[in-house]
Amino acid sequence: MKQMSARFVSELDFTEKLEAISTEYSKGGYKNILFHIYSGVLDEELLQHIAERICKRFETDNVVGTISAGEIKNGRLMDRGVLISAMMFESAEVEVHRFPNAVGEERSIGKEICTIANNLMDAKGLELMLPGTNLHTRALLEEVSRCRRGIQVFGGYAGGHSMESSEHFVFDRYGLYSDMIFAITYAGADFHISVDKSVGWQTLGVPFKVTKADENRLYEVDGRPAVEIYEKYMQIEADENFAEETFEFPLMAEQGGEELLRHTISVGEDGSLLLAGYVTEGMNIYLCYGAPADIVKKVDARLIDICEFRPQAILLYSCSVRKSFWEDFVNVEMMPFQQIAETAGFHTWGEVSREKQKGNVLEYNITLLSIAMREGDPDEEKIKRVHVDDSVLKGQASLIKRLTKLVYATTTELHRAYTDLSTMNDKLKEMAEHDGLTGLLNRRTIEQKIKERFEELRAGSGQAGLIMTDLDFFKKVNDTKGHSEGDKVLVKAAELMKEAIEGIEGAYVGRWGGEEFMILVPGLDGEGAYEFAEKLRKRFEETAFDDGIEITASFGSISFGGMRELMNVFIEVDNALYEAKHQGRNKTVKA
Ligand code: GH3
Ligand code: MG
Ligand code: MG
Repeated sequence: MKQMSARFVSELDFTEKLEAISTEYSKGGYKNILFHIYSGVLDEELLQHIAERICKRFETDNVVGTISAGEIKNGRLMDRGVLISAMMFESAEVEVHRFPNAVGEERSIGKEICTIANNLMDAKGLELMLPGTNLHTRALLEEVSRCRRGIQVFGGYAGGHSMESSEHFVFDRYGLYSDMIFAITYAGADFHISVDKSVGWQTLGVPFKVTKADENRLYEVDGRPAVEIYEKYMQIEADENFAEETFEFPLMAEQGGEELLRHTISVGEDGSLLLAGYVTEGMNIYLCYGAPADIVKKVDARLIDICEFRPQAILLYSCSVRKSFWEDFVNVEMMPFQQIAETAGFHTWGEVSREKQKGNVLEYNITLLSIAMREGDPDEEKIKRVHVDDSVLKGQASLIKRLTKLVYATTTELHRAYTDLSTMNDKLKEMAEHDGLTGLLNRRTIEQKIKERFEELRAGSGQAGLIMTDLDFFKKVNDTKGHSEGDKVLVKAAELMKEAIEGIEGAYVGRWGGEEFMILVPGLDGEGAYEFAEKLRKRFEETAFDDGIEITASFGSISFGGMRELMNVFIEVDNALYEAKHQGRNKTVKA
């Protein structure tokens, strides 16, 4: 296969360049052709005219266009204009599928695309060309994710050069559309494709939890308006410059181990953020920053793979944020691809690719998506190694580099401290609530649980059982076997009680004192509480403790609703237990 790209300055120029492509096409004996048009200018008449002429000249309908935020020709950002890429194939079958009026139909279109791809023999690649922000692409992509794992999926979202752009159109010879989906299938036994994305942005600080979100709108994090992330931590005001000022610090959302970067398009009056990509409630999100050295490293890693693949053509679909981020240096990360094969593409408003582990097709921001294609076996020639030439960055970007290093180092320390602190907090909480020997709730906590339940019952209706128990003649164990054997008996006794409440919602057991325990079981009436205690008493009777020790326990049981004083409940259950002791121990007495 072969890719040729062209831009032109006049009608005559256009005609000449089309002829050059046509000559190459027939000379090379190619069978199929696909044209991408990437346009930085929004002129419906002109774009339709260009598409129309190509269709006629090549007698094909395989001509698709997108509005772009930057046009990439020969691995370089070209001056704003219209770029044509012609891909010629020796045997691969490429076909453009059009889905008009897509808004609201995303899921069924996703299903249809999936069926088309799955029914196509030797389908290898699936490209989605999507208009901008109207579409609910989550449903679309969820369905497309079901296509065969061997099919590489890639694509980009349309959007114009300016940050406030509302030029989210795709087009063909029939017109411009804000609600059309183009799906392009690439198939052939001899056709090979490799798609991957490079990112390199790093997280900054500790995570926020998404507490309110709807598709691309992020309302709240940690219960606060989302805009506070930028106002509080970056001192970026929610004004008309918001998008421009925040694009250097995008958000990264975590989804099942995947890192989904999201940049901000605008801020709402309610403090919500409109993002270039969806987020969902429960996700952790981080502020991020771009460090040139890390970004270059990621691109270099991808270049190694592409060199191995030995492509004949490359498409680069790169996020418009990368263009803004690199400014004058944007070509640094794109030019090496041209050294491998003819490289064309555009700057997008979102990238689509398929994550490797589960095969989910997702929408990304801030990635450099590289699509390498080849027909036939790789060249026998030795692999040519290329890498990003970052020497130009040394001078100009060294300040940024140093500062980002500093940020990285402090962030790492902060992260560690945060993790240590939350582990420590968990431990402290555990210690503060539990008894050290038996692991049961301590007195303060079980008392608290009983009080809480009591208050609930007072407010509503229902009842709960309370069982108080004390081991019989426990002092004797200490006296005859020693204190540490006594401890073991307490631990074992605690296990029996834990087992007894296992799986009962809202039931708790706590250590009330030395060898005294309190058990709370919701829902039990007087008889139920008594039976619960009796069952446990029998368990004690039957259980062989270590060292042949036989231990029994005495029980007091009571049921309470909200009508009485809690203090009286405690006194009555304690009296019942005392009565059980008085009656000879190993007994349950109902209060
Ligand atoms: P009764 O049937 O009347 O309850 O007799 P008892 O011996 O169990 O009662 P008493 O209150 O006289 O003794 C309780 C003993 O429990 C005294 C104390 O040394 C022991 N004890 C309290 N806490 C612990 C502990 O954490 N470990 C050990 N090994 N013994 C404890
Ligand atoms: Mg005792
Ligand atoms: Mg006692």
